[in-house]
Amino acid sequence: MGGIIALFVAHPDDEVFSAGTLAKHVKLGFKVYIVWMTNGEYGHFSIKPEELKEIRRKEALEAARVIGAEPIFLGYKDAHLEYSMETILKAVEVIRKIRPSIVITHAPDEYHRDHRNTSRIIRDAVFMAGLPTLEDEGESHVVERLYFYGKGLVTDIYVDITDYIDYKIRAMEVHRSQLEWLRGTKLHGFNPLERIRVEAAHYGYIAGIKYAEPFTPAKPRVENLL
Ligand SMILES: [Zn+2]
Repeated sequence: MGGIIALFVAHPDDEVFSAGTLAKHVKLGFKVYIVWMTNGEYGHFSIKPEELKEIRRKEALEAARVIGAEPIFLGYKDAHLEYSMETILKAVEVIRKIRPSIVITHAPDEYHRDHRNTSRIIRDAVFMAGLPTLEDEGESHVVERLYFYGKGLVTDIYVDITDYIDYKIRAMEVHRSQLEWLRGTKLHGFNPLERIRVEAAHYGYIAGIKYAEPFTPAKPRVENLL
């Protein structure tokens, strides 16, 4: 088995959503890239943006190492990511360079504007990357499948990450600045690392396995009854 997978996410630490799936596919022989759209420099209550940008980049690199993925930083400003021709064409350029067969990104209706804009940018970039006569951003490339991380959607794919839950937890543990931040916000009274495990167990329960990550294909799948 093999192939190329590209995950496009808004901020350092968003890759944790699908870290089990990515680590699993690295082990299965896939080449995996993680592309961070923004620097995440506003994600703290006291560390100033310029300093936080560097911290979060280092944390993201550590997470990429845990997962076994190649890191790519596009460097847009946190909370300011625009859905624009400029950002779409930048993503087209990246897709054409790394030539993934599978692209994963945020669901279209997520809570954070950077997440929603990343989802829209990537959906359009996947389409535009395949246009043969659009030549300025490199040689055209057809992405076979685009998936949204399943939160909030009618999910129909659950990846079994039972053997990879520790990778997922470790990928979050390295985001020390974000753990401080999340613990500070006391999100639903949960320890953030415990929350990741509970969420994976929740999706695993739905899928009839121990731990899972949910995804939704951007286009309905057409299959025969077996
Ligand atoms: Zn985010």
